[in-house]
Amino acid sequence: MDSARSWLHKFQPRDRLRSNTRRRDSMDGVEDDSISEEEASSMTKQKVAAAKKYIENHYKEQMKNLQERRERRISLEQKLADADVSEEDQNNLIKFLEKKETEYMRLQRHKMGVDDFELLTMIGKGAFGEVRICREKTTGNVYAMKKLKKSEMLRRGQVEHVRAERNLLAEVDSNCIVKLYCSFQDDEFLYLIMEYLPGGDMMTLLMRKDTLTEDEARFYVAETVLAIESIHKHNYVHRDIKPDNLLLDKFGHLRLSDFGLCKPLDCSTLEDTDFSTGDNASGSSTGERRTQQEQLQHWQKNRRTLAYSTVGTPDYIAPEVLLKKGYALECDW
Ligand code: ADP
Ligand code: MG
Repeated sequence: MDSARSWLHKFQPRDRLRSNTRRRDSMDGVEDDSISEEEASSMTKQKVAAAKKYIENHYKEQMKNLQERRERRISLEQKLADADVSEEDQNNLIKFLEKKETEYMRLQRHKMGVDDFELLTMIGKGAFGEVRICREKTTGNVYAMKKLKKSEMLRRGQVEHVRAERNLLAEVDSNCIVKLYCSFQDDEFLYLIMEYLPGGDMMTLLMRKDTLTEDEARFYVAETVLAIESIHKHNYVHRDIKPDNLLLDKFGHLRLSDFGLCKPLDCSTLEDTDFSTGDNASGSSTGERRTQQEQLQHWQKNRRTLAYSTVGTPDYIAPEVLLKKGYALECDW
């Protein structure tokens, strides 16, 4: 996916777009061109936080890959030692593995772009763009490409939601949610390349069948529960659970999709606050178990971060979201 070197450039198009939008607005007399100090420092903080997260993830991923590569080599060597294989064949098999590993790393370094895909039928149109079936040119594999217009996201102040959508898809590896293969961007759009789910959505199924049998209902409800639990385990709240966002794969299994309104209850940023207020005097955050009291404090802070955003789809919105008195993960249930 993204390479370390390209990271700095990653935020530039967005900023350029942002200043373009501003200029246009100010010509219409809507908005002043100057950026307040407060706004600038919040932008800087966002960039610093994103940089920190990116670098951490990048090196974590690299270490994990190296470790896995080492394990594969050891495992092959052990298998060969146990099996009745000549020394020459052993060397050839190890060479073959190393060649595959190098090819795999080269593929990983390749920066994907929209030109790597042949665009096929449009399957959905949303607030920020479209979803299309596409075919990867080199492999012939079919995917769903969600394309989001950056200027539209900036205009509506939805950048954080889109970032959360991409991060959730990349972080959560569960059979209950739609799989993300890669993400990339150009000056105008962000792209999410996801597995293509050909079974349609639950809304269409309900309209077609009107009433599900008890067995069918039990099956879909159970899979929905697993899907919601799998994202809550990673500290994300979905906030737009509804039949249109429950898709079916080719085997009829359900996958939760559309994380465009999801929100992370981000403990890492809360931990930073703890340091500054001296709550965590030891200064070591990783690997330490929190006391129940600390966990409660984190939970309360998390609740506050969600408190006043009224989002969702009116027909399905949870009452506590409308009440604006604070809500958290339970609004998905
Ligand atoms: P929006 O935020 O616009 O609702 P969605 O992610 O829900 O965006 O996508 C819109 C529609 O595109 C969905 O309702 C669904 O019909 C289709 N779609 C989205 N992702 C996939 C996918 N991975 N496979 C098949 N269809 C999809
Ligand atoms: Mg949707």
